Amino acid sequence: MSLFGTASGISGSIEVVCGPMFSGKTEELIRRVKRAQIARLKVQIFKPAIDNRYHETEVVSHSALSTPAIAVGSSIEILQKVFDSTRVVAIDEVQFFDENISIVVEKLARRGVRVIVAGLDQDFMGKPFGPMAALLAIADNVNKIHAICTVCGAPATKTFRKDPKESAQVLVGEMDLYEARCRSHADFFGEDQDQLAFFVNLNSTSDKNQNL
Ligand SMILES: [Zn+2]
Repeated sequence: MSLFGTASGISGSIEVVCGPMFSGKTEELIRRVKRAQIARLKVQIFKPAIDNRYHETEVVSHSALSTPAIAVGSSIEILQKVFDSTRVVAIDEVQFFDENISIVVEKLARRGVRVIVAGLDQDFMGKPFGPMAALLAIADNVNKIHAICTVCGAPATKTFRKDPKESAQVLVGEMDLYEARCRSHADFFGEDQDQLAFFVNLNSTSDKNQNL
C-alpha cells in the first residue's frame, strides 16, 4: 500500500514538510492539498490562530499561493473540527501548536486520515521548534526543504534572526527580521566562541585521561 494513502483512504499516514523560513514549505503543503482535491478527496486545512499575518481564514505562502484554512486555538480543536468524511488533513505552521499536536496527528492517522503538516523544524537558535522534534520522529515521511543562504547562495537549512537582542521564540510575520542561512553563516549568538570553549574543555579532559 502506498505511503501516501489510497483513494479509499484506509491507510492513514503522517507527512512532515519542514525547513527554514523562505524554503517554500507552505507552497509544498498547498501543492499536496491541491493534488488531493483533484483526486476528489475531502481535505481540511488548519493553521494556528496565532498566525494571522496574511489572512484569518486562509493559508497563504510568501509567494501568495493561498487556500482556505480553519484557524484554531489549540491542537485538540483540530480533532473536534475534523469531519468523519475528511480523508486528508493539512496543518500549516505546525511548530506553533502545543505538544499535544503529535497525539492529535497520530489519532487522525490511525483513523485512516492522511495528515500533512508543514512547519519550521528549528527556531532562530537552531534548536528543535516546539513540537517539531516529536512530529519528525513519528512521521512516515519527512521532507526537509532548503531555502537559499542570503550570504553565499548555498542551500540554507537555518533561520537566522538579524537582531539577536530580540529573544522571543515566536515573532510572527516579521519577515524582514529573518534570513535563511546555511550552517556556516548561521552563527547563532557567537556560537563559534562557545564551540572554541567546548574544544578547549575537551582537550583538557583528554589530557587528564592521559594522566590516569
Ligand atoms: Zn552561506
